[in-house]
Amino acid sequence: MDITPNTPLTSFPGVGEVRAKKLEKLGLSTAASLLSWYPRDYEDRRTVYAIRDAPLEGRVCVTAMAAEHPRLSRIRKGLELVQVKVVDHTGALYLTFFNQGYIERAIRAGEEYIFYGAVEEQGRRRSMVNPIFERAGRQSFTGCIMPIYRLTAGVSNHLLASLTRQALPCAEALPETLPQHIRQEHGLAAVEFAIINIHFPEDEKALELARRRLAFEELFYLAVGLCFLKSRRDEGGEGFPIPPRPKEEFLSLLPFTPTDAQSRVMDEAAADMTSGRPMNRLVQGDVGSGKTAVAAFAGWLCAKGGFQTALMAPTEVLAEQHFKSLSALLSPAGVRVGLLTGSMKQSEKKKVREALASGEIDFAVGTHALISEGVEFRRLALIVADEQHRFGVAQRAALAAKGGGGAAPHVLVMSATPIPRTLALMIYGDLDVSVIDQLPPGRTPIATYVVREDKRQRMYGFVRKQVAEGRQAYIICPAVEENPDAALPGEESPALNLKAVKTYGEKLRKEVFPNLRLDILHGKLKPKEKEAAMAAFARGDTQVLVATTVVEVGVDVPNASLIIIENADRFGLSQLHQLRGRVGRGEHQSHCVLITGTRSLEAMERLHTLASTTDGFKISEEDLKARGPGDFFGNRQHGLPQMKLADLSGDMRLLSEAQEAARSLLEQDPQLTAPENRPVLERVRRLFADTPDIFN
Ligand code: ADP
Ligand code: MG
Repeated sequence: MDITPNTPLTSFPGVGEVRAKKLEKLGLSTAASLLSWYPRDYEDRRTVYAIRDAPLEGRVCVTAMAAEHPRLSRIRKGLELVQVKVVDHTGALYLTFFNQGYIERAIRAGEEYIFYGAVEEQGRRRSMVNPIFERAGRQSFTGCIMPIYRLTAGVSNHLLASLTRQALPCAEALPETLPQHIRQEHGLAAVEFAIINIHFPEDEKALELARRRLAFEELFYLAVGLCFLKSRRDEGGEGFPIPPRPKEEFLSLLPFTPTDAQSRVMDEAAADMTSGRPMNRLVQGDVGSGKTAVAAFAGWLCAKGGFQTALMAPTEVLAEQHFKSLSALLSPAGVRVGLLTGSMKQSEKKKVREALASGEIDFAVGTHALISEGVEFRRLALIVADEQHRFGVAQRAALAAKGGGGAAPHVLVMSATPIPRTLALMIYGDLDVSVIDQLPPGRTPIATYVVREDKRQRMYGFVRKQVAEGRQAYIICPAVEENPDAALPGEESPALNLKAVKTYGEKLRKEVFPNLRLDILHGKLKPKEKEAAMAAFARGDTQVLVATTVVEVGVDVPNASLIIIENADRFGLSQLHQLRGRVGRGEHQSHCVLITGTRSLEAMERLHTLASTTDGFKISEEDLKARGPGDFFGNRQHGLPQMKLADLSGDMRLLSEAQEAARSLLEQDPQLTAPENRPVLERVRRLFADTPDIFN
């Protein structure tokens, strides 16, 4: 069969409809897609041993000749055994295969094979169970560096490797997308070499060359895309000119005096918005630093100038809370605030939409629905994205295209997640940055404790004590319901013993805190129920809120002074820091209890890191080190296109090279119209496919 990049996997021998469906799950449907499914790891199977010389540790390759015809026996129903003795000049090896009856015919006496497996020894007798094997001289999975792929149920590594092997010849037909001069300048391998050697490297050196080329490629296209975005803005379109206005007028609405840092950031935003150029600003401030006030100020300025603002929150709970506090703050000044979330009733939604289109709402608060569902605004001039790590590059670009009438709306992105520098370069490469590096006065640092199961009763006592003093408490669980099948992300085995909010919440209500007003909040409740639960807690009606991480970002109840996090080792450090930020928002001494049953020293160390510092930057650096950038925000929440090979914590050098290359390419050919640069444009377009209108 002649395989081209477009050959569907169903044309590969051994791939029927069932297998094709399973491969589809990994996004694999053609030969080309196989080739870009890079291994996650490798196994060195290059050394082939004689039977006596084979080490007894790990799996190894052994070359030997079948000394007899394999013997098939049925031990009982459902248990088949094939046994065969193989030999070389050093001795004999006894092979056993379980439930692989076909092997009786696959191994022939007198032929030489390479077996890959773990050698065991009893006395002088050496044996191997269920080895992989191939005829000598026709090897593809032994005697080589073997790729290890990410898999899914029903797709084995062996299957993927063998399909990929078959697809390999068509690497020749893959188009070279990196311009020749860039490859030369940066010493990058050609695409065919890179693809072949990323899957089946000849040696370490070839693998490194392949990896370097492909990682560079990823970083390069991303950098080109970001440069594009930034330059489009710089030359950029007009921004809505917002009439200036004395800040004091806004400050008189606030129930507190802003910190110097808040005040400075408000000035920076005002300067952008009144300049006539579109604002593209990131406001970075640790949890509790008071970012909402900055957003309120920007929205107020817009409204006073006769323009509209849209504020997007990552969750409905948070959107509702912002809506309440912003309307309380701004309606006395005549600013009309409205709420639009995906789960509101159709009729309510319709009303809000109409009010937005007619301009009767000045300040819209919502979730993603606000921009994704074709909502029309009359004069939208400002978009605020709260907790930006869920609104990535592509989403922002989509926003920028939202402004009507030629002008691009101002964009204000607010994030509590302090991002390590490398990552920031990638995610925020196109933004100006303001930092709120000061907490409101009178906050006492949150006391954090790492606690083991044996202290559980004391901990419950502490909850009662806090509540008796008039405070409120959160208890956070990692799961919604008990479900032994539900593995946590990144985990192979079922997640057992996780505190599930439903059952655990009921138990707490009945057995532990029968005298307290306790409520349960999780993402699977109906929106109305969620809202009611959150509102009751905010009013102080609920004393103990047992919740999942739906309260993770932004939720603000200053009277809450205690947060208990169950199975704390299951959360990432940055996430724990965010959760901890739910308390310590008022004048009361606050506490965070991380309870864990983990036996892992490393996990304990991470928890102690969190207990020892409240510096968000330090925490995120640690987090990045421990988990790697892929996981940093969970589920690609940073919105960066997926990096398959580039490692953002380690590839700093390569990253700056890629950025340099991107900049110089765009300097020479700003629109990428030269024929040799067309493939670059194509790739960047595909990378930002969610945002088709960036590159028009
Ligand atoms: P975040 O930066 O985490 O979004 P918020 O904007 O939710 O922080 O503010 C946290 C809490 O601090 C809120 O209750 C808010 O009213 C209060 N706050 C904000 N700024 C100040 C300030 N300058 N002085 C006193 N309290 C403030
Ligand atoms: Mg906030």
